[in-house]
Amino acid sequence: MPTIYHHISALRHALTLYYGRQSIALVPTMGNLHDGHLELVRIAKQHADIVVVSIFVNPTQFGIGEDFDSYPRTLEDDVAKLATVGADYVFAPSIDEMYPVLPPPTSVRAGEITSQLCGQSRPGHFDGVGIVVSKLFNIVQPDVAVFGQKDYQQLAIIQQLVRDLSYPIKIIGAPIVRAEDGLALSSRNQYLSDSERKIAPVLHQELQRLAEQLKNSEYREQGFESLLTATKARITEAGFTVDYLDIKTAQLDSLEANEATGNCNINSENLVILVAAWLGRARLLDNQLVTVKLPL
Ligand code: AMP
Repeated sequence: MPTIYHHISALRHALTLYYGRQSIALVPTMGNLHDGHLELVRIAKQHADIVVVSIFVNPTQFGIGEDFDSYPRTLEDDVAKLATVGADYVFAPSIDEMYPVLPPPTSVRAGEITSQLCGQSRPGHFDGVGIVVSKLFNIVQPDVAVFGQKDYQQLAIIQQLVRDLSYPIKIIGAPIVRAEDGLALSSRNQYLSDSERKIAPVLHQELQRLAEQLKNSEYREQGFESLLTATKARITEAGFTVDYLDIKTAQLDSLEANEATGNCNINSENLVILVAAWLGRARLLDNQLVTVKLPL
């Protein structure tokens, strides 16, 4: 079983054993763990000797009227799951422990990238992510930190944060873990009713269809807009309310995703399609990388 700490000082004390001797990986989560999270831990174990998983439903990344109160909190089950994948430590602080003053007077803002896509519909969300991740980096001082590519924009922002604030931490982007029918695993999937759950895989199917269309180079004549409009219409027809659907440039090789939200260059080889859409109470996120062959 992993050892659980609720206090910063106790965790730091435990970790002093390892600094300079063994490498540490951090996997930040909000708990209610599923196979996607467990895969991040497996990847973390391949990159470091000791794995610390944080479980903290971070109030500063939720907006007014969002699901902070109803977000599922399942610490006991989470710790049992983490034991099956060999996590060493769980850090599960209280809100007071993380934020002596709430909202914190200090902010960590990663710039323009935070106001696009998810940042547009969730103003302040990525500032909350910025401060909590910075705090976790300072508390744990890991060599490596693992984040899911499912939250592609978040990964891009963290890459930028690490670069701009000179954190000596290697960021690893882990591939999206999906259910058999293609739906990206998410703690918020449990907000779906049975009938909504049957519709939900449409999101991934439509991203794949759009990816194929992009590969076929049809877009070069039409531009992205008509393809995006048609895809949006099909997703809406299935019962979703689309928040955004967009295509950005991506950097596949290094997984340095910081260009993900840069302006799309129609000649780019590596693209990422990003979507956020409501289905009932659940706001679902997904994305699809696509490599487009350019004509010589
Ligand atoms: P969360 O608990 O939702 O804040 O997610 C914690 C970490 O798990 C983030 O880095 C997410 O990107 C990652 N994650 C969540 N769902 C998945 C998934 N289906 N596949 C891969 N990573 C995921």
